[in-house]
Amino acid sequence: MASAPQPATNDDDAARTEFGRWLFAQECRFVAGAATPDALPAPDLPEIAFAGRSNVGKSSLVNALTGRKTLARVSITPGRTQQLNFFELGGRLVLVDLPGYGYSQAGKAKAAEWSALARRYLKGRPNLRRVCLLIDSRLGPGEQDRATMAAMDAAAVNYQAVLTKADKLEADALAKILPALKAELAGHVAAHPEVMVTSARDGTGIAPLRAALATLAG
Ligand code: GDP
Repeated sequence: MASAPQPATNDDDAARTEFGRWLFAQECRFVAGAATPDALPAPDLPEIAFAGRSNVGKSSLVNALTGRKTLARVSITPGRTQQLNFFELGGRLVLVDLPGYGYSQAGKAKAAEWSALARRYLKGRPNLRRVCLLIDSRLGPGEQDRATMAAMDAAAVNYQAVLTKADKLEADALAKILPALKAELAGHVAAHPEVMVTSARDGTGIAPLRAALATLAG
């Protein structure tokens, strides 16, 4: 059996890309769906959480990263993903699909309950290495994204903006949006300076995102 490549610790882009490709091709298994704090799994492995408004393309992105079609369910109705879903990747990293914020079919009270759990998770998770904050590249950050950024700054949770659905955007539109977003993020203490531009549909940015996230694996 071929031995596992080691995480790249230097600036060698090719090695980082290869390690990302390898890690995200490993077995990815569902470990827990938590609807209450006591249902959160033990914080044993480094975790990366995915956050964003409902319909931002979160399930599609997690599926594209792991090369699976049905890992995270792609919702037909916005807000259907209601709990924190934990997926273990190759015994090295855990991917956490947070509930999308925004309108929830379950009703307002229930939506507030879920977001309280997500907020609590973001604040108190010792093994949380990074939050990917997904932002629709056509819409830019909204009020709730900004509130989430502020909460993560306050809790000193590292986060990185990931633009989704880039295939829907003309290159010149992206060239306008990116500098503005980077300038905004520069004012946030816990934000990663690099913005990832992705499309689950055409695969743009998926390999670089895998490479970036794989550097956080244990
Ligand atoms: P979630 O609610 O954030 O998990 O979003 P989903 O992954 O369920 O996607 C919401 C909608 O956006 C679906 O209709 C997807 O087909 C669409 N979508 C997701 N990713 C992309 C993308 O990269 N490009 C395009 N054009 N559409 C996408």
